[in-house]
Amino acid sequence: METLSHWINGKHVKGTGRSADVFNPATGEVQAQVPLADKALLDSAVADAAEAQIKWGATNPQRRARVMMEFVRLLNRDMDKLAEALSREHGKTLPDAKGDVQRGLEVIEFCIGAPHLLKGEYTDGAGPGIDMYSMRQPLGVVAGITPFNFPAMIPMWKMGPALTCGNAFILKPSERDPSVPLMLAELLQEAGLPDGVLQVVNGDKETVDAILDNETIQAVGFVGSTPIAEYIYARGCAAGKRVQCFGGAKNHMIIMPDADLDQAADALIGAGYGAAGERCMAISVAVPVGDATADALIERLVPRIEKLKVGPYTAGNDVDYGPVVTAAAKENILKLVQSGIDQGAELVVDGRNFNLQGYEDGFFVGPHLFDRVTTDMDIYRKEIFGPVLSQVRAKTYEEALGYAMDHEYGNGTAIFTRDGDAARDFASRINIGMVGINVPIPVPLAYHTFGGWKKSGFGDLNQHGPDAFRFYTRTKTVTARWPSGIKEGGEFNFKAMD
Ligand code: NAD
Repeated sequence: METLSHWINGKHVKGTGRSADVFNPATGEVQAQVPLADKALLDSAVADAAEAQIKWGATNPQRRARVMMEFVRLLNRDMDKLAEALSREHGKTLPDAKGDVQRGLEVIEFCIGAPHLLKGEYTDGAGPGIDMYSMRQPLGVVAGITPFNFPAMIPMWKMGPALTCGNAFILKPSERDPSVPLMLAELLQEAGLPDGVLQVVNGDKETVDAILDNETIQAVGFVGSTPIAEYIYARGCAAGKRVQCFGGAKNHMIIMPDADLDQAADALIGAGYGAAGERCMAISVAVPVGDATADALIERLVPRIEKLKVGPYTAGNDVDYGPVVTAAAKENILKLVQSGIDQGAELVVDGRNFNLQGYEDGFFVGPHLFDRVTTDMDIYRKEIFGPVLSQVRAKTYEEALGYAMDHEYGNGTAIFTRDGDAARDFASRINIGMVGINVPIPVPLAYHTFGGWKKSGFGDLNQHGPDAFRFYTRTKTVTARWPSGIKEGGEFNFKAMD
């Protein structure tokens, strides 16, 4: 069995204390042990990072951007290797794993524009002999705490902007799939990143608390479930840090009676069941408007769901989605499915007895479809994070809009319609951060920003895009007055310069 390490000062460092099991979700076997850092290890990694940051922060932005340029080349070179390691620990299919790396890589590409993004503002002649300029300076040492479901993309969303802005970065990846973040660190070293500027410290709550208590760390970016997001936001802010936390989701897709229902059904299959529903932008609630739309949608969804192929990533392109990440995740999903049945929802497709020959110990969950779900049910209120789609029937557009607006989560949403008025009204009124119009998973590209509202996002700025460069820098504004040597009438007075 493999024993994983931390990545500190450009080297793999073995753990000395506690450790956790890392599973292969397809087989259910423990395939590695990951060390869990204590406070002493975290503090020493931060102290070394602070030392390394001084030179890195003073390196010109163009040179820092060049490291990212080379990193992009190396990510493309090692794409297959990264995807395989990712699928082995996470369970997602290889095309999904490549997508995970690719979406991170696109943010690194955006970071190559750092010299432009960091160049600040200048006012010539703000007053007599006075010029004013603002510059963006790095914060120092900053940290990122990331979830299991995108172990390549989300660490890159954090480390790319943080590092190109001139900070040192402490990454605490998910303890469930830590291998890819360690591989990213190796690639960044190969790309020319100085040792100590990026430290990957593996761990769990104890390590996170050490990050929050460490006074050198100036900012913390978190992505994960909402209860932990709220905890980290409150504790990080109380400690005087700059904090942004992105939490869970319950994304609604509204299907208007005039929508292309085949297109809507195809979209729901990808967005509801892709990656086993383990995406913060997955659609977990379909809200058709009118019973006729609801019935027609169910008619289209059922045969499509029955065709879904669930299996291990090693089966290649033959698989639509893989296992969920742990046995505990599977148990939680099945418990919520049972609650849906108990609370009166209609289980139209039952995936509970899904079994895959040869993979009986894997964490596979068959696809589920519920109809006639109501807002008081646990399957509606809670994030399931599994292959379970709930249909809530609405009589009118206003009622459908109200469901999405009243839900406590506000990450993503979509409307399927041919009516421009309805689409425009929806985009304008909805209180949710990312909106799709005939697009089921409206993930913004790297040069826009990504972030949810309500209980899906805490803090002022979004992830990637220009907001990331704001989050990882602070602005200093200089007002400069030089004694003017110019006399009235334009003659130069050298005496005034003495
Ligand atoms: P999680 O909250 O369990 O873990 C996230 C991170 O927090 C991990 O690094 C973990 O080690 C740490 N952590 C866990 N428990 C902790 C505790 N008690 N105290 C301090 N730190 C703790 O989330 P997960 O299961 O890894 O990821 C899935 C969740 O992430 C889902 O809710 C999903 O919606 C959300 N997510 C959100 C976004 C977004 O941008 N909004 C993106 C991806 C995933």
